[in-house]
Amino acid sequence: MAMLVIGVTGGIGSGKSLAVQYLHKKNGVTVVDADQIARELLSSPGPALQAIGDHFGPDILQADGSLNRARLRTIIFAGGDQRRWLEQLLHPMVRESQQQQLQSCTGGPYAILVSPLLLESGHHTLVDRIVLIDVAEQIQVTRTMGRDGVSRAEAERVIEAQMSRRERLSRVDDVVDNSKTPEHLYRQLDRLHALYANQAVTL
Ligand code: ADP
Repeated sequence: MAMLVIGVTGGIGSGKSLAVQYLHKKNGVTVVDADQIARELLSSPGPALQAIGDHFGPDILQADGSLNRARLRTIIFAGGDQRRWLEQLLHPMVRESQQQQLQSCTGGPYAILVSPLLLESGHHTLVDRIVLIDVAEQIQVTRTMGRDGVSRAEAERVIEAQMSRRERLSRVDDVVDNSKTPEHLYRQLDRLHALYANQAVTL
């Protein structure tokens, strides 16, 4: 019997990481992290870096074979189709790795797949139910600036490129409001955890 999988999504700086860390520490829920998978694909030699080198030319890699991230970022933000090319390269690789990690999950009452692009990427077909970590865009901006040390313009640009808050809200099963304190977030997560742990038993 496959384990219940809960998808956790939300825009940049909405509080996904804080939420899943809490559920992992408090309840031992296994977490599969899409961002971490994508980072690992780009940080170690393998088919992703090979294809990126072939596509953009050897200058995109440094002498030691690692990715020249600054150069890649410049190309991506220059516009055109290069961002889409990169997404189309990485999506199937991320998906396969997510699937493998979810299939090998055995511990805990259920598993979590946390992904900022869960709704955009079609990866929501890997999950049984989706919870949105929801905040207003102004809060996303200030928390992203605080965490990453980026400018307001840069935070706004990322948010602008992501799915709108309204569309996310219309496409998920559960919504958690993270506009107040972490404790307020945790109380809502406790309630959802009780619901999910119960479903995991009855599925
Ligand atoms: P995401 O993973 O969705 O990008 P994070 O969980 O990293 O977002 O949260 C973004 C930043 O905001 C982090 O520095 C985090 O500690 C902070 N943060 C998250 N939730 C709250 C909250 N309720 N109150 C204050 N700071 C928060």
